[in-house]
Amino acid sequence: MRYDIAIIGTGPAGVSAALTAKNRNKKFILIGSRTGSEKIRKTHRIVNYPGLPNVSGEALNQAFLGQLKDAGIEITEKRVANIFAMGDYFSLQVDQDFIEASTVILATGTSFGKPIPGENENLGRGVSYCATCDAPLYRGKETVVVGWDPKEESEAAFLSETCSKVTYIPMYKGDGKLPGKVEVVTGVKPASVGKADGKMRLSLVPLAKGTEAAVDHIAADCVFLLRESVAPDKLVPGLQLDGSHVKADRGMATNLPGFYVAGDLAGLPYQIAKATGEGNIAAISAAQYLDQKAREATKQSVRQSV
Ligand SMILES: Cc1cc2nc3c(=O)[nH]c(=O)nc-3n(C[C@H](O)[C@H](O)[C@H](O)COP(=O)(O)OP(=O)(O)OC[C@H]3O[C@@H](n4cnc5c(N)ncnc54)[C@H](O)[C@@H]3O)c2cc1C
Repeated sequence: MRYDIAIIGTGPAGVSAALTAKNRNKKFILIGSRTGSEKIRKTHRIVNYPGLPNVSGEALNQAFLGQLKDAGIEITEKRVANIFAMGDYFSLQVDQDFIEASTVILATGTSFGKPIPGENENLGRGVSYCATCDAPLYRGKETVVVGWDPKEESEAAFLSETCSKVTYIPMYKGDGKLPGKVEVVTGVKPASVGKADGKMRLSLVPLAKGTEAAVDHIAADCVFLLRESVAPDKLVPGLQLDGSHVKADRGMATNLPGFYVAGDLAGLPYQIAKATGEGNIAAISAAQYLDQKAREATKQSVRQSV
């Protein structure tokens, strides 16, 4: 089955795009986290969202999720690892599966941070962003997982079912709830990644200034770097950027026909109202693109039958 629209991200931009896609009667899939946006959930007070003058982030996030539920929109709780432009459709790697969509709205936010030295060069060659996707490649091998959010602990636990050794480095306070098979190394952060003696070598430095790192490197077959989101050009080969954002026009269209962006990913200011507005525009643009394609296909078949 091919979807009309694949919407990626369950922050305000993705939620708004999904509500509009539903109103436009499009066959779509919404992929992301069933708990919505981490950024919104963690915001104590929001005072600039029109109509809700003094709302907590948690309450606003719940309101977004409740509105999806009321509209009968389900969230597919998965992570998109890659998106490939195939000509007149897109192929998306979603965990270990592939799905197809005629158009895409990318609304994955901007929590990707700066790549560590060696990360880009080794991506797909010993560095991975998706444990669920790449676990089969490292069966019986040694892996390191760097997690920027406690929810990545489940990815390390999952890898430990098939890998010979898993080391987990949390980039947040706490050493996690991980099975005994996973070795947890705290107080360090990645400095660089490269290859040495046929393995990947992750160099480490102390997390806090003035402290000493217990370990200065770890050798493994794969280094998983699990951030909340992946830089858009790594996710979508060929997508044109404007600095660290995706270049888009006022209809949220990118350089790839049928591919739209919305929210923080599309540029400053990082605001919820802007994200919801852009999600709405992106879904309208995707619907117009699909309708135009359908009209062209009808004209073509009429011409052929005459
Ligand atoms: C501490 C803080 C306080 C803030 N306070 C305010 C405020 O008071 N007012 C205001 O207007 N704005 C505020 N903002 C900014 C606001 O949170 C953002 O502008 C807004 O959340 C952007 O929405 P978004 O939908 O673009 O992205 P996000 O909210 O970041 O959502 C992105 C979603 O995409 C998902 N995702 C990422 N990668 C993938 C993938 N590969 N596959 C599937 N899903 C993926 C993520 O899990 C997430 O659910 C604040 C931000 C922060 C960090």
